[in-house]
Amino acid sequence: MEYEGRICRGPMERASYMLPVAVGCSYNACRFCMLFKHLQYRELPLEQIEAELQRVHALNAAPKVVYLGDGNAMHLPHERMMTILQMIEKYLPNKPEIRMDSTVTDILERTDEQLQELYDHGVRRLYLGIESGLEDILHTMCKDHTIPQAKEAIGRIHRIGMCYGAHIMTGIAGKGRCIENAEALAAFLNACPPVAIVNFSLFAHRRAPMWSDVEKGTFVVADEVETMREERRLLELLDLPGCDYDGMHDFIEFRVRGHLPEQKDKMLRKMDEGIAEWEKEPEIYCIVP
Ligand code: SF4
Repeated sequence: MEYEGRICRGPMERASYMLPVAVGCSYNACRFCMLFKHLQYRELPLEQIEAELQRVHALNAAPKVVYLGDGNAMHLPHERMMTILQMIEKYLPNKPEIRMDSTVTDILERTDEQLQELYDHGVRRLYLGIESGLEDILHTMCKDHTIPQAKEAIGRIHRIGMCYGAHIMTGIAGKGRCIENAEALAAFLNACPPVAIVNFSLFAHRRAPMWSDVEKGTFVVADEVETMREERRLLELLDLPGCDYDGMHDFIEFRVRGHLPEQKDKMLRKMDEGIAEWEKEPEIYCIVP
């Protein structure tokens, strides 16, 4: 498989077979994100995708899950997406579940009939960059959706039987607003239940567009202990029927993983231990040089 850029997918997809269908991110405008800024978004040729599927077919592979890459595979025009799904059916007749990243907009731009067609051809889970529960933060960070739009998009995929995984970022609201964000985000997630939550935690990149806000003083980066308190408050408030949680912090060795609701208390205890431990350290900020 040829791959351009840095492989980025949620940890719940580490065992999935990744089939790139595009390079980069079609949106590429989120002000905190540097993943694909160096890449020009483009769709991969169908011949290249088919050759990759033929290679996997020749190995007699039967992956349970196919994860379509890259940053926003759902942006593919519907006819092109259907051609790729039909190719997967041809070369992987074991009928794997199809998952991919999507923006809220790319769900809303499809009709219910088109979403149903994707479902009928194996698409079961979309990963959405929900990031924050605060409208002004979504706006500041130039996300492509508002809270009502996200609710509408999730309601539409839920109605046809698809589920979603939420990518979130503790710390995204900045110093002093972490608990406010945790409470707003918990309310959103409880109203629109995901099957997976991946908390990447904000990493403030000096070359990211949002850094100009840091320099102007309009955004103050929260330290890691504040973001851990935010994560604890979020976990405490989540009331979900069944959801894998995985939260990571790039600058400190601390990670909380588990299944909600069964392992909530265990995760909260780990958070308390982690907060007590890292409070002993001088303030640590997740700032990428
Ligand atoms: S949609 Fe995702 S990959 Fe694209 S710019 Fe935003 S955060 Fe980055």
